[in-house]
Amino acid sequence: MNIRLRGHHLLCLKGFQGYGYDESFVENMTFINSKRKLPQTTVSLCDCADDICASCPNLMDGICEDKTQNERVISMDREVLKKLDIKKEYDSTELFDKIDEIFNTKESVSKICFNCKWSEKCLFYQKLPNNR
Ligand code: SF4
Repeated sequence: MNIRLRGHHLLCLKGFQGYGYDESFVENMTFINSKRKLPQTTVSLCDCADDICASCPNLMDGICEDKTQNERVISMDREVLKKLDIKKEYDSTELFDKIDEIFNTKESVSKICFNCKWSEKCLFYQKLPNNR
């Protein structure tokens, strides 16, 4: 199975613990989160609406909320994607191991997670040390 993920959702999935915008969003994100952990899953990367956005109530006409918010999330995606190869189809478990290696302090995710309303509930963010 291949899943399509926008850059910043690689971090969101690592910290996901069942919270979300509505029931359908949580159900879909739970499904994607279980699939991304399987060794046979591959991941294609993007900086646009992905397989998680597909069940999100904030997705309007293919963009996140409105033009301003959409540009904000795209810039978060690009902060993650500049460390990866957007053209590559990644083995999912290897990709998420790589995410752990790259983003290993709060400082390393500061441009991505600084304004996130989920950061207090995000296991990934909460476990990151300030510095190494
Ligand atoms: S539409 Fe926006 S809020 Fe919804 S999952 Fe996608 S990026 Fe997140």
